[in-house]
Amino acid sequence: MGIVVIGTVAIDDVVTPFGKNLGAPGGSATYFSLSASCFTRVKLVAVVGRDFPKKHIRLFKKKNIDIEGLEQKRGKTFRWEGKYDWDLDNPETIATHLNLLKSFNPIIPQAYKNEEMLFLANIDPELQLKVLDQVQAKIIAADTMNFWIERKRDKLLEVLKRLDILIINEYEARQLTGEPNLLKACKKIISYGVRKAVIKKGENGVLFVSRGGFFVCPAYLMENAIDPTGAGDTFAGGFLGYLSKMKSYDDSAIKSALAYGSVMASFAVESFDIKGLVGLTRIKIQKRLKDLKRVCSFGHRMRE
Ligand code: AMP
Repeated sequence: MGIVVIGTVAIDDVVTPFGKNLGAPGGSATYFSLSASCFTRVKLVAVVGRDFPKKHIRLFKKKNIDIEGLEQKRGKTFRWEGKYDWDLDNPETIATHLNLLKSFNPIIPQAYKNEEMLFLANIDPELQLKVLDQVQAKIIAADTMNFWIERKRDKLLEVLKRLDILIINEYEARQLTGEPNLLKACKKIISYGVRKAVIKKGENGVLFVSRGGFFVCPAYLMENAIDPTGAGDTFAGGFLGYLSKMKSYDDSAIKSALAYGSVMASFAVESFDIKGLVGLTRIKIQKRLKDLKRVCSFGHRMRE
């Protein structure tokens, strides 16, 4: 039981109100894999250039992440420059350098082809489709962002038709559907062929919508949030990693998975880049989960 993920393994140049972090490890698949590997076996599909530091590749191995599908080629790694404002929400993209991503043609290793779960992390929807054609997974989930919604909408809609779960942030949900109201946006997403939608709302938590209804989970709030880069991918890693481990997709498992996703995202935002995910232990995760449960449960008998 495990998850195949395709996404970006990147070099990020990030500015937040709390500092500059240039030439840092990043990418949607990096954050996802580090987070999901706390719960399940992860098989990574991505491309990096010779400029990508070897120590980060060693970290994947240390975390037991399968890197047979990580191509290391001559050329430059995908690079993203982003800037966050005081609300640490919805970054401004200063530059996106696709570099090796432009010519990437993912060939999926045989051992990845019949994995239980597939996560198409934020990357070119044409690459997401190429992977979809090669992996026979039981559960397929995906993420995307404004960059691809603007440039590759038709290809993205093809991806959506084949998804069980779409995990995107509130701005992307509105941009994709043209609906300001998130519940209506989710209905529209479901009408595109997706079975369940998970809408990430930063420090306002997460909204889950399926044909059966909706529920919400708060974020694990931090006083010392300094860099939200990768929080969304880290959330997705905790959410899907937990579901993969439980081998269950009913409402009760999904509620717990949302809570694990929120807890994992909190570790990402309290340090720059991937630092908060490197030394994570089961004990630290369980402690935050207990705290989150405490702040969002109400058991007192209420008067009508
Ligand atoms: P998030 O979880 O949304 O904060 O994702 C942040 C990560 O997305 C960064 O580490 C970037 O390297 C990566 N990223 C930024 N733009 C893109 C893009 N257009 N496609 C794929 N990954 C991207």
